[in-house]
Amino acid sequence: MGRIIAIANQKGGVGKTTTAINLSACLAEAGQKVLSVDFDPQGNATSGLGFEKEEMDKTVYELLLGDCGLDACIYQDVQENLDVMPSDMNLAAAEIELLDVKNKESLLRTELKKISDSYDFIIIDCPPSLNILTINALTAADTVLVPIQCEYYALEGLSQILQTVEMVKKRLNPDLELEGVVFTMYDARTNLSLEVVENVKKHLNETIYKTIIPRNVRLAEAPSHGMPINLYDSRSSGAESYRMLASEVINRGGEE
Ligand code: ADP
Ligand code: MG
Repeated sequence: MGRIIAIANQKGGVGKTTTAINLSACLAEAGQKVLSVDFDPQGNATSGLGFEKEEMDKTVYELLLGDCGLDACIYQDVQENLDVMPSDMNLAAAEIELLDVKNKESLLRTELKKISDSYDFIIIDCPPSLNILTINALTAADTVLVPIQCEYYALEGLSQILQTVEMVKKRLNPDLELEGVVFTMYDARTNLSLEVVENVKKHLNETIYKTIIPRNVRLAEAPSHGMPINLYDSRSSGAESYRMLASEVINRGGEE
């Protein structure tokens, strides 16, 4: 049974999408069968993995509303072992459209459970909010991976996502666990990055990944070429670090 990992943090710009794209691609590169689910209406994971979000016929939105089946909204193209379930702007309307739908929190879970046997990993990129979409992702997930940016306010907001995880665990998904926290955009030239890492380690009992993702301009460039970092610049520090994160994620799964 594949491990379903939601990449979540209600703060925007912390590296969720970058992590979703590149963790998916590096897991696939390591021979794991991966489905990358874009669950943010901005569709940045979709375009970052090489798809034109305006041109996708069926997306996760149609799947949630029951307007298409799984086969119609899963695409292969980017890389061997890597499938993509895209999203687009329409998904933003789902919150309102799902208001009266029965079991609206577990729609994604119901669908992903049908195919989780076909994958080693299903990675879900969440939107920067704690709305019904994120609740769906957390209800579908086995674990939550929380990227935190190495900046002064890193700890702020962390408690909020951890509380939401607890809430979903109590009410909707008792098996949900924290996969861990991963530091992103680490800048070795500043003391601040180092201080942030030390400070979070001091205040957090949860799992923190050994891999720290550096600030690397290649990671910021890759999406505009529609490529994950391992394809865009295989030898960059960004690619190396996401490969290390992928191998930690694989090994952590093996410990259970
Ligand atoms: P989120 O999905 O949490 O909003 P993104 O992954 O979209 O965050 O990242 C926000 C911005 O920072 C994007 O422009 C992205 O390209 C850039 N970025 C993310 N991680 C890195 C990194 N490690 N090095 C350099 N730029 C990064
Ligand atoms: Mg994002």
